[in-house]
Amino acid sequence: MLKEKIDTVILDIDGTLTETISWYEITEGLGASRATHVDIFEERFRKGKLSYLDAKKELIGLWRSTRNANKKYMEKMFRSWKFKKDVVEIVEYLKKFYRLCLISGSVDLYVEAIAERLGIPHWYANTDLIWDKEGNLVDLNYYADQAAKKLEQFNEFISRNNIEKERCSVIGDGDSDIALFRELHYGIAVNKDPHPELESLAFKMIKELKEIKKIL
Ligand SMILES: [Mg+2]
Repeated sequence: MLKEKIDTVILDIDGTLTETISWYEITEGLGASRATHVDIFEERFRKGKLSYLDAKKELIGLWRSTRNANKKYMEKMFRSWKFKKDVVEIVEYLKKFYRLCLISGSVDLYVEAIAERLGIPHWYANTDLIWDKEGNLVDLNYYADQAAKKLEQFNEFISRNNIEKERCSVIGDGDSDIALFRELHYGIAVNKDPHPELESLAFKMIKELKEIKKIL
């Protein structure tokens, strides 16, 4: 039984607990163009045509142009977003047996809202959003290597809580989970579409979250 071997489960959010990529959802939810965001991030920043600082400046400018990029609006938006089917039930099930921790490549305000909604006390986000006194978004600190950031946060989490790496499982779906899957023996890949690299590192592969009950 795995319950005797592990005591901690690390959960990704985007694509694992939700269907969407929160970065683009934020852009659309604020009322800005997803295509512009894709152009800034995928077409120019990822391909080295735009520096980190300029990419950040353009993205914040895009979000701020909607006049919705404030804490109040974004908190409300994050509380309204839908989970995948069975998430609440699965998280409640996992809580009975394991310590849970969210490690996400998204922004802190979003991950905090998800942690609160699911009652998960431990969480880490890739990006800090920076607000002015009125609660308007003015800056952000983004780590381009999401997978390395997640591994760093995982190591911080286990050392702070005296957890053995060998007793951890990770549930994720994408590139940002690869470093954790490489590090941990019990990686569970949740994929609708094939992800060969993640699957090659995974202990188990599932299509629906409810299958977790048969594994953990
Ligand atoms: Mg994901």
